[in-house]
Amino acid sequence: MTFTLPPLDFRSDTVTRPDETMRAAMASAEVGDNVLERDPTVQALEERAAHVLGMPAALWVPSGTMANLVALSLHLQRGDRFLATRGAHVLSNELGSAAWLAGGMPDVLEHDGGPGRPSPDTLAAAIGQPGPYFTLRTSLLCLENTHNAAGGAVTPPDEHAQLLSVAKEAGLTVHLDGARLWQAAVALEVPPAALTVGVDTVSACFSKGLGAPVGSVVAGSVAFVERARRMRQMLGGGVRQGGVLAAACLVALDRIPELADSHENAQRLAEGLTEYGWATNVPDTNIVLAQVPDIPTALAWLDSLGIRAVPMAGKVRFVTHRDLSATDVEEALRRIKTGAR
Ligand SMILES: *Cc1c(COP(=O)(O)O)cnc(C)c1O
Repeated sequence: MTFTLPPLDFRSDTVTRPDETMRAAMASAEVGDNVLERDPTVQALEERAAHVLGMPAALWVPSGTMANLVALSLHLQRGDRFLATRGAHVLSNELGSAAWLAGGMPDVLEHDGGPGRPSPDTLAAAIGQPGPYFTLRTSLLCLENTHNAAGGAVTPPDEHAQLLSVAKEAGLTVHLDGARLWQAAVALEVPPAALTVGVDTVSACFSKGLGAPVGSVVAGSVAFVERARRMRQMLGGGVRQGGVLAAACLVALDRIPELADSHENAQRLAEGLTEYGWATNVPDTNIVLAQVPDIPTALAWLDSLGIRAVPMAGKVRFVTHRDLSATDVEEALRRIKTGAR
């Protein structure tokens, strides 16, 4: 019988599991029926998340996908065009719900401002000029920070401000997909609220690299969150004793500074891969994208070495997270260098 170690799992930072501290917080959470009234722990989380994100109010939802769908459903009317960056989660990873449920007509912005973002000129050109009643109306801009398919790329506050100013000048609503906004804030050494300036709504995840099993928020004005609560109910996202889950999200919020470790590990992984002849991005945060001649071959080879990764945007994606240590990264690099487990 051969003994095999569990694989080193670089597929996503969503594979992180709640540890003892988080499970203890979940076990002792004060709860209520969050549909009939407000569950006290969900309410505490929503208030704290709104504050951290610099928004007036926030709503807990089970997933980042639902957070985006709630926001887009409220922002878009059938026949509206919305703009999102190439490879954005709302375009590539939500099975078209922005179109078939929220009713928007997507259009793609290229990343000519830097990884994960258009230039202000490209944005202005895409918005175009208002036309007569029979022309498409561009009503919404979706930004993503960090940008997943661009390799966890960070949009800095000054560039964010320029894009916001173009969008707002043209009367667009702006939604920020901030599933990994925490990672961007840690990389830039700014508070998360510094990255939401001017947006109408923002979504953020607690289940990406922070160890929470479930949970995201969508934040915006008080009036938006009131409507969002109805939309969440419509989508089947009314969770009863949600405090058990919100307790985990509160612990996750305490752990934001610890994301710096996974950013360092991603740097090391990219350096090591580059040394062994792989072409990778220089990661801003915790995502390394590697260009390979053939993705299935590369993934199968990595798998044979007990290293798990996924395809993303025509590359192989490695994500570092709190359940992979610096030693695990060195071990992965050793296996890649030697081609042996
Ligand atoms: C993961 C992710 C989401 C959605 O998250 P789920 O909780 O898995 O639904 C949204 N946007 C981006 C950029 C993401 O990476």
